[in-house]
Parts: sequence; structure tokens; C-alpha cells
Amino acid sequence: MTKPPPHPTALRWRPFRLPLRARFEAAHGATASRDGVLIEVRDAGGHTGIGEASPYPSLGGGTVDDVLTLLARHGFAVFEGGELSGGTGVEALRCAVDVATLDLAGRVAGRPVAALLSGAPAASIAVNAVIGGGTPEEVVGYALDAVRAGYRVLKLKVGVASLAEEVRRIAAVRAACPDAAIRLDANGAWDEAAAREAVEAFVPCRIEWLEQPVPPSEFEAFARLNAASPVRIGADESLTDPVLREWILERRAASVVVLKPMMLGGVRAALDVGRRAIDRGMTVVVTTTFDSSVGTAAALHLAAALGEVAPGTPVAHGLSTGEHLGGDVVEEAFVPVDGRMALSAAPGLGIDVDEDALDAVATASWSDWVRA
Ligand SMILES: [Mg+2]
Repeated sequence: MTKPPPHPTALRWRPFRLPLRARFEAAHGATASRDGVLIEVRDAGGHTGIGEASPYPSLGGGTVDDVLTLLARHGFAVFEGGELSGGTGVEALRCAVDVATLDLAGRVAGRPVAALLSGAPAASIAVNAVIGGGTPEEVVGYALDAVRAGYRVLKLKVGVASLAEEVRRIAAVRAACPDAAIRLDANGAWDEAAAREAVEAFVPCRIEWLEQPVPPSEFEAFARLNAASPVRIGADESLTDPVLREWILERRAASVVVLKPMMLGGVRAALDVGRRAIDRGMTVVVTTTFDSSVGTAAALHLAAALGEVAPGTPVAHGLSTGEHLGGDVVEEAFVPVDGRMALSAAPGLGIDVDEDALDAVATASWSDWVRA
């Protein structure tokens, strides 16, 4: 019999802001920086665990102020499941709590988080490059850089310009990178008619899939598009609402399911959604929300754990977002090699927060320790 799971006995937190190297343009708006809250837990034996709550305001995930308010209000009770109820920032905080607890458990057990979640996690994960808006020349330049760096899958944002301009941009990337897989993300920019027109226009560009062509509220249109589209349709923002998530899973109303631990309330919640989607024959891809290396490591362990339940279906996951950030909370950010990220064999998340790096991006000091 294994020992009972480690139990955090103390908690503290610290907010930070990571600047983006360049403004990142998507249909939900341009992002100039990513704000988050790092949480650290301790158990009675002095083991520690870290987690990150980085809500994505323009995707409806709340703000850092929401997370800080929840932490101040609930204190240590954030570890007692039922305490956090609906509201903005809750899912990001749940994610931080889940990840910190997993990191602590892994450190106590001397095993990586992925090995706690799965009997046979993948040792490394293929990742895609993610490219924001820009002129066709700029975007082709980014795409060529990515292919030269070893990426085989390029994810591009659409829904930011006229369809004619976007087809010119995507066709230019297709011509410049004939062997790369190209996936598109419209972030819910279109209505059903515009989405149909766009899908038809992008067919000659050989698209791997198109994410979120219509907003979550247009779920019937989403299902119709998925059923009829010559291009696979992916659900991302549509999965944030639990009722809609169930609707999509039950009806297999998407071909691809995008798992963001930060929007789904943590790694274990996302793993559950992912396993159910795989059981229903859907493709599952894990992405960050442009998190620090803490959130990225958590997403990497999730992707590795899912690797076991989807053998033979290699998918490039959206984890290489750190290269868009001009700061981090660790000394060395995750850098994919030849389009892949390797999992550390170290216990827990396999990363350590660097106090100097954190000092450089923190927007306040650590809170006092809050005890159980
Ligand atoms: Mg997306």
C-alpha cells in the first residue's frame, strides 16, 4: 500500500507580469503581456509544490485581481474542493491548486507528475509553433524561422483580417513551407456563413484543422460546421462552459478538442475531459494559455499522460508559447528541440522557481504564509 497523498499545510502566493516579445494578435484581441499568480505550498515535512494561475481575460478567464481576491477571501480553504464556486478567475485558481498539489505529491514520491497521472507517459511531446497576425511577408518569415528551428506543425491565427487577406497570408505560408502541417484558429470570429466561406477558401491550403470558427454561443452552428466541413473542426473556447463541454462530448460535435488546463480547472480535470474525448474518437491537443514555465510544465505533463491513451496518434501540442514571452519565473525557459519537448525525469513538475527571475517579473512581494 502506498502512503497517503501528501497534504499541503501552508500556502503563499505572488503575482507577476510577463511581457510578450511582440504584441500577439488574435481575433479576441491583441495581447501585450500575461499576468499571473504563482502559488507555493508546503507540507509538514518541508516539501514544496508550485502552481500558476494565469487567467486569460480576453478568453473570459477572469483577471489576476479576481484570483488575488479569491485567495484573500478563502485562504487555505482553496484546497477544500467545494469552497471555490463559479466566478471569474476560479478555473485558473483551481488549476494552480491542482498543479501545486501534484508537484508536491511528485516531489514526495520522487516521481514526475506525468507518472502520477499515467502508467506509461510519453517521454517527449511534439509541439507546434504558434504565429500571431501580421502581413503575409512577416508571417511567412516567422513560419520559415519555425520550420528551420525544427517545427513540423504551424498554428496560425485567423479571423483578424478580411477573408481575402487571410487566404493570401495562409497560401503564402503553404507555398513557403510545403511540408509543414498548418492549423488555423479563428477564436470564434465568424458567423456560420462566414465560417463556411472561410473553410471552402482554405481547402486548397491543406489545413490540418480549424479551431473555433464560431463563438461558443453558436453551438448548433458549430456542430453543423463540424458535420459538413471538409476540414476538421476544433473546439477550444466552446469547452470552457461545463454544460456546453458535455454537449460537445456527448454529440461528438467537434473533431478536435483543445485542452487548456488553465481554462478547465487544472491538469486532472483536463485529463478527464481528454480521456473521454479520446474514447469518443476525437483528436485531443493540449495548449497553454501563454503561461510561465510552471503552467507550461503542467501542460507538458498532461500531454505526456494523454500520450498513453492515444497511442499511434501523434499530435503536436501547443506548448511552445514560452518563446513569445520576454520573462519567466525559472532560469531557463522550455525550449523545444527539433519540434519536440522532452519531459524531465525529476520529481514533480521537474522545474524550480528562480527567485531572481521571479523578482524581475513580480508585481508584488510574496504574501504571508497562510496555514491550514
Ligand atoms: Mg484556440
